[in-house]
Amino acid sequence: MATTLQTTVMKFGGTSVEDARAFERAAALVSRERDARPVVVVVSAMSRFTDALLAAFQRAAGGGHEDAANALEEHFARHSEVARALLPGEEVAAVESAVDEARRELAAALREASEHSRPLPELQDLVVSYGEQLSSKLLAAVLRARGLGARQADARRCVITDDEHGRAAPLKEETDRHTRAELGPLIAEGVIPVLGGFIASSAASGATTTLGRGGSDYTAGLVGAALHSREVQIWTDVSGVLTADPRVVPEARTIPRLSYAEAAELAYFGAKVLHPKTILPAVVRNVPVRICNSRAPKAPDTVVFFDAEMTPRTVKAIAHKTGVHVLHLTSARMLGAYGFLRAIFEVFERHRTEVDIVTTSEVSVSLSLEDTSSLEAIAEDLKQIAAVRVESGRATVCIVGEGLRTTPGIAGRVFSTIKDINVLLISQGASNINLTFVVEERHVAEAVRRLHAAFFECATSELLADIGGH
Ligand code: ADP
Ligand code: ASP
Ligand code: MG
Repeated sequence: MATTLQTTVMKFGGTSVEDARAFERAAALVSRERDARPVVVVVSAMSRFTDALLAAFQRAAGGGHEDAANALEEHFARHSEVARALLPGEEVAAVESAVDEARRELAAALREASEHSRPLPELQDLVVSYGEQLSSKLLAAVLRARGLGARQADARRCVITDDEHGRAAPLKEETDRHTRAELGPLIAEGVIPVLGGFIASSAASGATTTLGRGGSDYTAGLVGAALHSREVQIWTDVSGVLTADPRVVPEARTIPRLSYAEAAELAYFGAKVLHPKTILPAVVRNVPVRICNSRAPKAPDTVVFFDAEMTPRTVKAIAHKTGVHVLHLTSARMLGAYGFLRAIFEVFERHRTEVDIVTTSEVSVSLSLEDTSSLEAIAEDLKQIAAVRVESGRATVCIVGEGLRTTPGIAGRVFSTIKDINVLLISQGASNINLTFVVEERHVAEAVRRLHAAFFECATSELLADIGGH
């Protein structure tokens, strides 16, 4: 392992490889890091390509496989354009032949989807995997064109999962072993492995699986953990993790340091900049995760450490998530009875649906969830044990900070700031570092902006969030 001890894993998201200029920026960043230490690169599909592949798949599954395939042409062209702008002739030809092969294989897979001749979840993963297959091929060639020894590595030979298509769970030992076996020799030779994020393969069948939307971050975390890397860098389109989503709060600022627990809560409750599971493999091996801006590499960034020092009286950030549903369950049977909650959670387990917030009273339970793929079936099953009411169009707001453990008065401050907005469920997170609540979706942006102003923009605030320095 001596040669891999010092590796940096550099992950580039879709917008960091959206066009030729972005590829050039990514290559310059890799080149600079490579001067200091060995690098492993993880790359997402070019921006919007995964969405296009998913849309094509859905269209094909509905019967129109030819239209579906045609809609992908503009994205194939984007790959060729990058190749022509940045690569020498023979490498352009190699990329174009990879694009042609992808076009043929995708057309065949989309035809199968329209005929339903193979299980659809398996075909869907195969179809979307071409985004990362092509971007990794292209980025490896761009790195070579800059004189760096780089080679595409197949992520499906590294990340080994169960066969829950669409959101497969990596198997830790197999992934560690395969990742080291695949990448170790390349690193030892001084080659930069370039692998697609998000895509993996099933231990049982060998079929292509995916880790869930945004899963390239997760791949980077897994690879960093397997190689005991020095650091995992997530290169994206914002300057690190900010105090709120900058699309809602333009005043949001970079948070220099986060603890793993804080980062995990933020990611889970909507800060899309990090996939919720990224943190986990890194935590265990104590590998720091740095989130940086590929368009402004010198801008401030965020480092997530195992246990960023506790900063008392600190609120670090506000995350929010829309598209949330709330289920209210009421049953007199709950009064003094054992096993009621278990019966409820068994229903969610059966339908493999995650619950975000849970609150209980004497005779009722309310839960919030985001994944509605099985909502009708869940409601049907729950009706066997309780009266069920479903509210849609809700959003969660989550305030995160290690300081929430110890600081009195934060809840009072939060709810007085938004006292005219109806709050539907409240949970002081079990981890003690978050305060989460549900509001109507149409009020969420206003709630987040006001809370941000109260905690981060008001210089005289007693609870002024000290977001700490480097
Ligand atoms: P990538 O394609 O690089 O993986 P994503 O689109 O998945 O990038 O994530 C970056 C986006 O996350 C940002 O553009 C931003 O709008 C959003 N985001 C949401 N919450 C936050 C936050 N607290 N800090 C930074 N970005 C956030
Ligand atoms: N390309 C995948 C997606 O769009 C994975 C990722 O970008 O992280 O979800
Ligand atoms: Mg992402």
